Amino acid sequence: MSTNQHYSFFQSVERSFDKAAKFTNINHGLLEQIKACNSVLQMRFPIKRDDGTIEVIEAYRVQHSHHKAPCKGGIRFSDEVNQDEVMALASLMTYKCAIVNVPFGGGKGGIKINPRNYSEYELEKITRRYTAELVKKNFIGPGIDVPAPDYGTGSREMAWIVDTYQSLKPGEIDAAGCVTGKPVSQGGVRGRTEATGLGVFFGLREVCNMPRQMAKLGLPLGVKDKTLVVQGLGNVGYHCAKFFRENGAKVIALAEYEGAIYNADGLNEEEVFQHRKATGSILNFPGATNLAKNTDALELECDILIPAALENVINGENAPRVKAKIIGEAANGPCTPEADEDFQKRGILCVPDMYLNAGGVTVSYFEWLKNLSHVRYGRMEKRFTENLNTHILSQIETLTGKTVEAGERAFIMHGPEEVDLVHSGLEESMITATREIMAIWEANPAIPDMRTAAYVNAINKVATSYGELGIFP
Ligand code: NAD
Repeated sequence: MSTNQHYSFFQSVERSFDKAAKFTNINHGLLEQIKACNSVLQMRFPIKRDDGTIEVIEAYRVQHSHHKAPCKGGIRFSDEVNQDEVMALASLMTYKCAIVNVPFGGGKGGIKINPRNYSEYELEKITRRYTAELVKKNFIGPGIDVPAPDYGTGSREMAWIVDTYQSLKPGEIDAAGCVTGKPVSQGGVRGRTEATGLGVFFGLREVCNMPRQMAKLGLPLGVKDKTLVVQGLGNVGYHCAKFFRENGAKVIALAEYEGAIYNADGLNEEEVFQHRKATGSILNFPGATNLAKNTDALELECDILIPAALENVINGENAPRVKAKIIGEAANGPCTPEADEDFQKRGILCVPDMYLNAGGVTVSYFEWLKNLSHVRYGRMEKRFTENLNTHILSQIETLTGKTVEAGERAFIMHGPEEVDLVHSGLEESMITATREIMAIWEANPAIPDMRTAAYVNAINKVATSYGELGIFP
């Protein structure tokens, strides 16, 4: 799925970059440097399968940009992985970090396996060997390159990575910062698991609260009662669906690998998840209708379509049949340049991946900072804030002679836990990024779409940091 009819994924990213570069005043040479992938590591290593056979594994790590250290980006396990895809994803990471003001260069890793075809023990051996290869080549470390979860990987794989790294680098005090998305018990941060889906929600909620944008689309303001279709019920898709549902939107269809289901009254993602776990399929969910093909879900009438699986799923062929008013790119690269052109012509608003799914990397940044500071967020201020708030409340009650109701009292007194601070830092980052990009777009009517505005924002920020470094010999 890494190529469409005209462009590879990396070429699509380059094409979007070039389209946006015209709206900047940056020197051509510097633009070329920003666009180029700085280092590409390609690996082949053997593992012994459970049945005793030896298999050669193909894997990659790409550091797209060294303008800031460390590089940052997920590791993907998928049998679609190839060098072009990893390069494209690493580039998107550079731009994503710049937009949400996370001081990292972009990176990405990929192992060409379908994790469903391997036992847990085999996956552990592959992940540990991959990490050892990265250590050998100096491609991992808290100040060098910091991987994270992506498609097909999660906190389990990150725990194997940090353990392997720590065993190979004894005594490195900041070693826990060599990877993010770890379990909390291994140095992870509370709020990382849901971060990407929650970030997508915050970004789209901000768009839905913009009167000019909603008027253009003929939609009422706000998230409440909006209808949604979500493709992919993995980490990102599941949490997107959850936060939209909890905020009054209706998830009318969910699509997975094996098929798609529809219910005009709304689906509960947790119930569907449990049904899939029990039966092995999303299909035949009580009260829902099965759709003939899983891609049919992409073409349903709805307010917001959220592709949260893989790239190139909406392309020149099916884009004209998409009926959603807003596309929220939770996955990386789900819409091809041809799809973008179609959306632009038909006035569909595509909210681009390169910032919309930045919640994961934003909270990864918080996790990395936690690892370097060796202290849990909230530890220093929680008790102090609670004591202070209790004091203020009792002063108010004494002065007014009235008592604050118990629910309100608990809310006001509450000192911040780690998860509160992480969610609030994420909310702030996503709202600010959405407003910055919209402001660039609205200030220049020649900019054709929101993706181009996001690239303009990213290119300007990366160019500025190159300028600040005075980097060229
Ligand atoms: P995941 O592996 O947890 O989930 C992906 C889901 O998509 C799986 O359940 C899979 O079965 C499903 N899927 C695959 N092909 C499908 C198809 N054709 N139709 C419908 N469903 C399909 O992965 P994830 O972490 O949720 O990542 C999803 C996307 O979000 C990827 O593009 C990834 O790069 C991007 N992303 C993830 C993060 C993160 O923090 N995990 C951060 C930024 C971007």
